[in-house]
This record gives sequence, structure tokens and C-alpha cells, in this order.
Amino acid sequence: PYAGPTADEILAKRKEYLSPSILHLYKNPVNIVEGKRQYLFDENGRRYVDAFGGIATVCCGHCHPDVVEAIVNQTTKLQHSTVLYLNHAIADFAQALASKLPGNLKVVFFTNSGSEANELAMLIARLYTGCHDIISLRNAYHGNAAGTMGATAQSIWKFNVVQSGIHHALNPDPYRGIFGSDGEKYAGDVQDIINFGTSGHVAAFMSEAIQGVGGIVELAPGYLPAVYNTIKKAGGLFIADEVQVGFGRTGSYFWGFEAHNVVPDIVTMAKGIGNGIPLGAVVTTPEIAEVLTHRNYFNTFGGNPVSTAAGLAVLKVIEKEHLQQNAFVVGSYLKERLTALKEKYDLIGDVRGRGLMLGVELVTDRELKIPAKTETLHVMDQMKELGVLIGKGGYYGNVFRITPPLCFTKEDADFVADAMDLTLSRM
Ligand code: PMP
Repeated sequence: PYAGPTADEILAKRKEYLSPSILHLYKNPVNIVEGKRQYLFDENGRRYVDAFGGIATVCCGHCHPDVVEAIVNQTTKLQHSTVLYLNHAIADFAQALASKLPGNLKVVFFTNSGSEANELAMLIARLYTGCHDIISLRNAYHGNAAGTMGATAQSIWKFNVVQSGIHHALNPDPYRGIFGSDGEKYAGDVQDIINFGTSGHVAAFMSEAIQGVGGIVELAPGYLPAVYNTIKKAGGLFIADEVQVGFGRTGSYFWGFEAHNVVPDIVTMAKGIGNGIPLGAVVTTPEIAEVLTHRNYFNTFGGNPVSTAAGLAVLKVIEKEHLQQNAFVVGSYLKERLTALKEKYDLIGDVRGRGLMLGVELVTDRELKIPAKTETLHVMDQMKELGVLIGKGGYYGNVFRITPPLCFTKEDADFVADAMDLTLSRM
């Protein structure tokens, strides 16, 4: 049994010694002491179904034995910055990762986080094109460093940083956007930004295929292909941020962008890729990657042996356990169950997403789409009491984010849907 400090003791230390800006999801935060696949356990040994941690850190499930073994084996042998010397771990993982990407996307740069990966992608695009302007979507989240905080487009995540050369295009949000599901109309705004806000040439367009932090927003059909053409004409690159959608999460495809029939020039990834170990990556073509040979790009721990050993193990587990296929089957089933709840409760305005990246938007009025913010917090809290952890997102904080580890089962899906059903029925 757990003999460490209690939740209250930890909370007191956090208040005194940790950043005051730390987020926690619940009124009474849970003290998680152990994780096993799709389950988390608190200090009293109480089990929670983790329906959120999939994107936060974990792809294969908490403490997956194969991943743990790879990490432990490598830690006992060597942990160092491999930028300086030769070591097989970084090379093996780079090769395996490249084999998962289409086209000529085969040169990998490793980082420690998604923010760093996107910073690097933006730098590469600017160097390659000689342009500074980058277009990202309103409602996007791309990171919290100087450049990426500019690309991130939700006020709650933006401090007063100098935002240089970033433009935010209309979000092709089928539920709340002004053009509904007409992707091509939204794409017109990107052309307008290029015409009226830049020299006519841009460095890049950057977007997620499904916005995660933004509240599981699927881009309107036809949007990405249309923007792809627009951006190419303006000399820019397309950067796909796969930090949340990648690695089989959407079920039908390994990468989120594949659902839109476009091949990016640069792909960034992080989070689930290391199954909890800090690891990020930027993948691009040899031609584009060449620009970084003009100076030294150095990242001490990016691609270190332990992180890349973990990354390789993750890829193997995804294949061995058919996790992408599982995301499709279990995700489709869960989406059906959640859609049935929408029929039952007016509070649910929209159910969306693909595979194991699902969103449920709560509104107090379906016509006016008034965000049900308080209700969202209440339902999350009550579901936690029932043993289910889900996330929330969206600009108004009224969208449940259901993004479990990819090993989620139908039984887990039922548990989540039943807990939501029971909670809503009591309101
Ligand atoms: N891109 C996306 C789509 C993200 O969701 C996040 C993190 N929420 C990031 C980039 C930044 O990743 P990190 O927190 O690892 O810097």
C-alpha cells in the first residue's frame, strides 16, 4: 500500500513551492500514485478509468511493460546527449519513425516537447522560404515558447509576448464556424490573409488535423486540401502538428492529416510518442532539412538514448497490439454511445471526433449554442467520483475531451458512457 504524503499534504507543498499557475482539473484534485494501462490508482488504491491521459502522455497505456523494459534497459546502459557521439538508439528510432511517414518525409530532428518541435518547424520553414509570415488557425494550440505562443490562438494561453509574423485564420469549425462545414469558404480567408496581410509570400501554414486543446474540433471537409494549394502558391510550407492526433489515435489513419489527403512538408509530434517520457520530433524532407546545416542546431537531450528507446518501443507496441485498429473499433463504438446520449440530453450540443479523440460539447441552449461551462465542470467532477477521468477544452471550457490510451476496451467505453449518462440524469 501507498505510504507517501496525502493529497492534502501534496497540495500544501504545491501551493508553497510550485508555480501558482499550475492547473488542476478538479475541486478536490486526485493524488495518482500508480498507473497500469488505461487505469490510474489513487492513494487509497481506488481505480479510475483514464479517458484523458492518452494525449497528455500515454499512447500504449500507463507503464506498458515493453516500454518500461526498453527504458530500464537503456537507462542501465547509457543516458547521455547523443548529439555528440554515435549511439544506435536515436538512429534506430529515426528510421522506424520515418518509415511511418508518407512521401519523402524522412529526416528527423528530435526535441523534448511539442513546443520545441513546433518552434523548430517554424524556424525551418522561415529559413527555407526566406519569409517570416506564418498562418495558424484561431483556436489552435501549438505551444508556449516565444514563437509557438504566437501561433497558439486562444487568449487563455497567451501572455503578452511579442507576436511576430503570425496571422490567425478563421477556424473551419463545423459546429461554431460562420461557414458551417464548407471547408473551401474558410480556405478563402487564408488567401485573404496572404493578399492583405503579407507581401504575398509566406513561410508556412500550420495546423492540427483535429484541434485538441481547442475542444476536439475537426476541420471542415475540403479545408486542408484547399489551403494546401493556396499556401503552395504563396511559396509556403504546410506544417502538420500531430502532437495530439498522431500515432494511430484517429483510428482510420496513423496520422491525422491523412484523413484530408494532403502530404505536409513538415510534421511535428510529441506527447504520446514517448508514452510518458519527454520526447518530441520534427520530420521533413532532405531538401528542406538542409537549411539547418547552415548553422549548428543543438538540442542537448533531444533524441537522447532513453527517450528514443522508449519511442521505438511505443511504435512496436502500436503494431504488435494493433492499437490503431483498436482506436477505430472502440472509438467508433464510444462515439455511438455518446451520440445516443445527445439524443437523450439537451445539454449535449455536439458529439464529434474520430477514433479515440472524441469531444462532447455542452450547451445550455442548442439553438444559441450557449456554452455550459459550470455544467461541464460539474459533470467532470461527478464522473471522477464515479471513477472516470476525462478532460475538457475549447475556448469556453465546455467541451469534454475523451482521449484515452489506445488500449481502451469496449468495457471501458461503456463505463465512461454509463458514468456520463448517470451524471447527466441526476442533474
Ligand atoms: N501542439 C499541440 C497540438 C498540443 O496539444 C500541445 C500541448 N498541449 C503542444 C503542441 C505543445 O506540446 P508541449 O506541451 O509538449 O510543449
